Amino acid sequence: MGECMQEYKLFIGGEWADSSTGETFKDTAPATLETIGIFQKAGAQDVGRAVDAAEDAFPAWSSTPAPQRGKIIFRAARILEERKEELSRKLTIEMGKVLPEARGDVQEAIDITYYAAGEGRRLFGETTPSELPDKACMTVRRPIGVVALITPWNFPVAIPAWKLMPALIAGNTVVFKPSSDTPMLAAELVKILTEAGVPAGVVNMVTGSGEVAGKAIVNNMKVRAMSFTGSLDTGKWILGEASKSMKRVSLELGGKNPIIVMDDANIDLAVDGVIWGGFGTSGQRCTAASRVIVHEKVIDTFREKLLARAGKLRLGNGLLESTDVGPIINNTQLRKIAGYCDIGKNEGATLLLGGKQAKMNGYFFEPTIFTDVTMDMRIAREEIFGPVVSLINASDLGDAIEKANSVEYGLSSSIYTESMRSAFKAIEKVDAGLTYVNASTIGSEVHLPFGGVKATGNGTREAGSTALEEFTELKTVYFDYSGRLQRAQIDIEG
Ligand code: NAD
Repeated sequence: MGECMQEYKLFIGGEWADSSTGETFKDTAPATLETIGIFQKAGAQDVGRAVDAAEDAFPAWSSTPAPQRGKIIFRAARILEERKEELSRKLTIEMGKVLPEARGDVQEAIDITYYAAGEGRRLFGETTPSELPDKACMTVRRPIGVVALITPWNFPVAIPAWKLMPALIAGNTVVFKPSSDTPMLAAELVKILTEAGVPAGVVNMVTGSGEVAGKAIVNNMKVRAMSFTGSLDTGKWILGEASKSMKRVSLELGGKNPIIVMDDANIDLAVDGVIWGGFGTSGQRCTAASRVIVHEKVIDTFREKLLARAGKLRLGNGLLESTDVGPIINNTQLRKIAGYCDIGKNEGATLLLGGKQAKMNGYFFEPTIFTDVTMDMRIAREEIFGPVVSLINASDLGDAIEKANSVEYGLSSSIYTESMRSAFKAIEKVDAGLTYVNASTIGSEVHLPFGGVKATGNGTREAGSTALEEFTELKTVYFDYSGRLQRAQIDIEG
């Protein structure tokens, strides 16, 4: 892996530059603990330069016809596609997820990039008749200005691409701060955009801590909108702070996603869904299935089958084909997961499997299952962000839905049932941004909206046509060609 070792710079105004602080940090591979890159710790001054560069680039980029911007974004999609395998391997090394999942991460970036490129020839507004004669009414979309994108580490390419591509196609210029756990893939993405022809200053990347670089972005008055994906605590702080400069803020935060398994479910299919949703990406997905709410008539069979399958999952380096579950991102997160397992045991939950760090080099945690979990326990309510699944009993559908809804988050949800009635009840009643029927809590597609309710966000949706809502302002246009004064609501009798 030594070939990946490199010193990376900040990307400001089209130039790769050292940080003004002179400080750097190491990017560590979680499976091997090797250093794979050295990155700049940006200070407030660097953030200021990046925002200024984005502001300078805005007039030309926003005036470039959207279909021309689309051509550039389309080229970026092609490059991403050509480099898919190489990027996926780098992603597995940097973030840890197993190679097939890393390919999925890169594919999601490719998909959103093509999708956004196509928006260059849409960016639709509305037209509607006027209530007055000789008058046209329509809406047009305008870019917002300098937008800031702050991203987490669990989807190192997909999440940045989900934000960058819609922001760019809409004509905004960008300051992008990736997570310090996965800056390498972020830098690759920025290089690809540059190679595709995105002009200098349109995309600027600053690496460094949330405390310094992140805060400087949030506090910069010239940043007009922010799109943030990360934890609830950080999201809350950003929302409060950004209100001081009246920034538009989009928040995609945590989850505590339930899978409901009804007594008429295909149990084997549900077990597949829990293995994939609970232990895929080592449980480090905002949509991870961390609560499995099972009808009491089938919980014994379900538990037995789940345990048999989960017990066979093989931990290891994600580059190896034999690996089912990769490492945890860093030691802090590993300790947090271990801490939650202690909390679960102390709260009276029964540990069925795992519950501890694996005895191997790297940040590995054993796939973990708790049973006899009740909704008052912290492991049933708080986001653990690790390979920990809690089994919860339910007496009927109503009880299952009530339990599903009894947490502060509301991102993804799922129900396994053969009954249409139960499926539609869950669709209607579960408080979540996504509901899957007979599929796990994960697996969103880029042409559909993505986001959550309650503490998972502030009502915005990424991807799909909603991605443009995040990054455009609507202007309503009234065009009067009557040649006389016409007064809406007054000249027409009711
Ligand atoms: P985090 O909140 O610690 O960090 C996210 C980003 O915010 C990082 O780039 C970090 O440097 C930056 N940051 C931290 N403090 C900041 C501050 N004060 N000001 C500005 N920026 C700051 O989250 P994380 O650990 O990187 O990611 C895991 C979290 O992300 C989980 O809660 C997970 O559920 C959530 N997530 C949500 C979604 C979604 O779409 N809803 C998707 C993926 C991850």
